[in-house]
Amino acid sequence: MERGKEKIYVTRSSMPPYEEYIEAIKPLWESHWLTNMGVYHMELERQLKEYLDVPYLSLMVNGHMALELAIQVMDFPEGGEVITTPFTFISTTHAIVRNHLKPVFCDVKLEDGTIDETKIEDLITEKTVAIVPVHVYGNICNVEEIQRIAHKYNLKVIYDAAHAFGVNYKGNGIGSYGDASVFSFHATKVFNTIEGGAVAFGDGKLYDKLYNLKNFGIRGEELVVSVGANAKMNEFSAVMGLCNLRHVEEAVKGRKTQCEVYEKQLKSVRGIRFFEKDSTTNKNYGYFPILMEKEYPVSRDILYEKLKEENVYARKYFYPLTSDQACFKNRYKKVELKTARELSQRVLVLPVFEGLKEMEQIRVIDVIKNPV
Ligand SMILES: *Cc1c(COP(=O)(O)O)cnc(C)c1O
Repeated sequence: MERGKEKIYVTRSSMPPYEEYIEAIKPLWESHWLTNMGVYHMELERQLKEYLDVPYLSLMVNGHMALELAIQVMDFPEGGEVITTPFTFISTTHAIVRNHLKPVFCDVKLEDGTIDETKIEDLITEKTVAIVPVHVYGNICNVEEIQRIAHKYNLKVIYDAAHAFGVNYKGNGIGSYGDASVFSFHATKVFNTIEGGAVAFGDGKLYDKLYNLKNFGIRGEELVVSVGANAKMNEFSAVMGLCNLRHVEEAVKGRKTQCEVYEKQLKSVRGIRFFEKDSTTNKNYGYFPILMEKEYPVSRDILYEKLKEENVYARKYFYPLTSDQACFKNRYKKVELKTARELSQRVLVLPVFEGLKEMEQIRVIDVIKNPV
């Protein structure tokens, strides 16, 4: 391959130093205790509860199962309607549908891509049971207004906080808002346990219920108290999490620097815009989305292809909308999704990850500055 043309993907997994992880998993060869709420599972649960500043936390095998079980644990009646966003990863919508609930898609806001809280109330019917908003790219939803609506109509709020690891809002962990918030620790996220996730929540009674859901309802050698799945995190993943957690602030710092390089270099490019900064939250710099406006010389899809020709793999997060995917199209209530549709056609997420070099960013920036 031509020098300086190595492939740059949109993300690359953070990993602790090799020696650190190897040292940390050694005790597993003594205990032979590899899963089933082992010591590392319990320790990571404790440390994350503290780090994320949430009242309760239950570790899960991945973010998707965390979301499915967080919805299931609320015991909604079958066929209930859930107001949610189509501008997200497909997991959000799958988790609703797999719980035998109906997604009702709500439009999003142009300034940050989160659910448009002014459009939620119009979508509420007597069948509505919950709101499932997404803190997309770590941009925080209007949690106060969503809470007001939920309270007024007696709805549950389950946040998909997969992008919002470590984000605080007005001094509170973002996972302390709503009835539950779900984090993903997938390999591609800001903090990873290889595969993993967690449900954060405020009502302590949910801890045992989630425990049953993630461990077959088993409560004794000869006792199964409820129907449950298997969604436990194993010890190798938990140790990965304990190691990565020690380095996560440093990783976020590196991402911040990278985002600043993009901002500085791209802010003067005509037709390139960024999402508005919100000073009430800290950022985790998990993603760097750019918005392409009409003044930009080529379309989003053409820029995407141009970057690819230069071995830069940017991503169209999130295109298509989940409501437009083959499995969901024309199956649910028709709602105007003008802004979501527009965003999904104009957004492009640029590479940001621990270890991305400025030289590599310059390659990305050069293409964006000279797309034709
Ligand atoms: C990553 C992600 C998930 C799913 O998490 P997994 O850990 O990959 O199962 C859910 N929702 C959003 C918005 C995500 O980005």
